Amino acid sequence: MTTTIEPAAQVITNPGHGESFTAHMISMDWNELDGWSEPVLGPLENLSIHPAMIGLHYGQVAFEGLKAHRRTDGTVGTWRSRDHALRFQRSCARLAIPELPVETFVSVIDRLIEADQGQLSDDPAHSIYIRPMIFGTDTSLMLRPSRTYRFLLMAFVAGGFFGDNTSTVSVHVSHDYVRAFPGGTGNVKIAGNYAPSFVAQREAEALGCQQVVWLDALERTYIEEMGGMNMFLVRGSGADAQVITPQLTGTLLPGVTRNSLLALAERLGYRTGEERISLEQWRRECAEGTVTEVFACGTAAVVTPVGLVRDRDGDWTVGDGTAGPVTRALRTALTDLHHGLAADPDGWLHIGS
Ligand SMILES: *Cc1c(COP(=O)(O)O)cnc(C)c1O
Repeated sequence: MTTTIEPAAQVITNPGHGESFTAHMISMDWNELDGWSEPVLGPLENLSIHPAMIGLHYGQVAFEGLKAHRRTDGTVGTWRSRDHALRFQRSCARLAIPELPVETFVSVIDRLIEADQGQLSDDPAHSIYIRPMIFGTDTSLMLRPSRTYRFLLMAFVAGGFFGDNTSTVSVHVSHDYVRAFPGGTGNVKIAGNYAPSFVAQREAEALGCQQVVWLDALERTYIEEMGGMNMFLVRGSGADAQVITPQLTGTLLPGVTRNSLLALAERLGYRTGEERISLEQWRRECAEGTVTEVFACGTAAVVTPVGLVRDRDGDWTVGDGTAGPVTRALRTALTDLHHGLAADPDGWLHIGS
């Protein structure tokens, strides 16, 4: 059965959670002889694949996630597409997949946004979440890299992932499962990283938490990430506040949002730092009142404040359990940039042709 396509794409006024797809997709193929084919824009539709397709069996699949927002002048801007292109190249390189040129990545996104931006309402809480992905398409069960690939670009209209974004979430520290390990693939965005995290996410949900806190794999001592997001701690308050995030050790995914918030924090006059932070230090600094705020960040959920941490050795609240002022200031600074409401000295908001 094929998906039914609306003849005239309509504005999506009530987006769900990753299911309100826009009308089009772009596809491109790669083979050793010809390299990349010309991108083709067509309706979003089902694929026809051979059951022995390599990507399906051996996980030779990489992806990206980025957003486009409607600016107050009505145009649509894509957030740091060049930086997502560079990360996509690193993810592909790690899986022996050919790298897509940065210019191609940026231009196919511009083309899809041009085609489907009419489906984005002017509600500032809405955005277009863009999903580029690539997979090996050889029909072979030999354990080797594919010699042919398909690149696909699709998008959906997103609302807020955690509903009202100033309400806090609870997080559960996972001691039994790890997300990433040295020499593995935790620093790239590949499909195989996510299915193994689902059992830990279920465990967190059974304990009333929305997210998992991942510890380092070797010592199970240092805090690394939260679910599919990077994390931040705030020490102190007011002009003296310090904005801290776990250091990139090779097992963390270098988030574009993480990078943006570090720069924005400095612009707002806060001190910033990247540190190795142990679970015990985190617990102690919250108890002492040194750590005043904690939040998670990523393209999907933007900035999500954390109110409660649940751990096998006892639970603790962060600050008074509500979204703190530094978290809110950073979130506003970022969303203002997304919507073209603030100066953009680094040219992060990309406006297509
Ligand atoms: C995508 C992702 C992030 C966030 O990266 P952004 O570029 O900010 O969206 C963080 N951690 C993991 C594991 C991810 O997959």
